[in-house]
Amino acid sequence: MKIPRIIFGLMGTVCLLFARAPEAAAERLPIIDMHVHAFPAGYMGGAGMPNPVTGRPSAAASDEELMRATLKEMLRYNIVKAVAGGPLEVVFRWKSAEPGRIIGGAHFDEVTPLPDLERLRRHFTAGQLGVLGEIAAQYVGLSPADPLFEPFLALAEELDVPVGVHTGLGPEGTPYACCPKFRVTYGNPVLLEEVLVRHPKLRLYIMHGGWPYLEETKAIMAVYPQVYADLAVIDWIIPREEFHEYLRELIRAGLGKRIMFGSDQMVWPEAIGMAIEGIESAAFLSQEQKRDIFYNNAARFLRLPVPVSISPIGK
Ligand SMILES: [Zn+2]
Repeated sequence: MKIPRIIFGLMGTVCLLFARAPEAAAERLPIIDMHVHAFPAGYMGGAGMPNPVTGRPSAAASDEELMRATLKEMLRYNIVKAVAGGPLEVVFRWKSAEPGRIIGGAHFDEVTPLPDLERLRRHFTAGQLGVLGEIAAQYVGLSPADPLFEPFLALAEELDVPVGVHTGLGPEGTPYACCPKFRVTYGNPVLLEEVLVRHPKLRLYIMHGGWPYLEETKAIMAVYPQVYADLAVIDWIIPREEFHEYLRELIRAGLGKRIMFGSDQMVWPEAIGMAIEGIESAAFLSQEQKRDIFYNNAARFLRLPVPVSISPIGK
């Protein structure tokens, strides 16, 4: 049987693509993703949950597949550090697969409680966890300033551990679906003010950039210069024009040195590339502003040694 020449041609192209993948990643400038999730594959309503933008089901059917596919996207885009929050046993699996790249996050939402304080202290002190977050208080009908979080915030302040708080949005119909106590009002970044007053040394970042609370986000960040924000999820889920206008407003308000990239990859590994594209396509940003968002601001916030060096995936 004769194989048409075009097939050989295609095979050559495919091999070349595979062969070039590591160099392509190395050519890309480094990125820090401040907001990824180490979730089990079924966390977002079961394996095969459609991507809310593309409508395509998650390609990762098992926890292991989801982790591997996400780490592969990190390699593809040269993401050198990623804050990954989720149930602790999943976070630790990701951390042991990629200890240099993954920064473990202590996650809180309607199904995942925070660990007890002493355990949390041990994990922070041992470096197994590096961030208190994502604190998704809104999903359980709580303000981030609720007394429930007080001892955890005090611990983060004492140990100088960064804290990431969910703000702003949730999926359509959230109170009718997963989370009957979810309220729009608990996503308002202004609620962080009491936290910041009580804990002046807290290194806090507003997740999802506070969208759609533009004025409140500007107000908090203007008065509290220690507060940073990530652009997770809004950089790929909301309409692109709306995202760009919002980002442009934050930049115009003089906050360009405190805005950080985040993907909020949950169970769709392709979300990482979609989120990066959301920043890359912002024509009003200079190359320097993009580098600040993709890397410099997060490196400063996390107090990383510069430059960051890590071993390749799987090593
Ligand atoms: Zn969130």
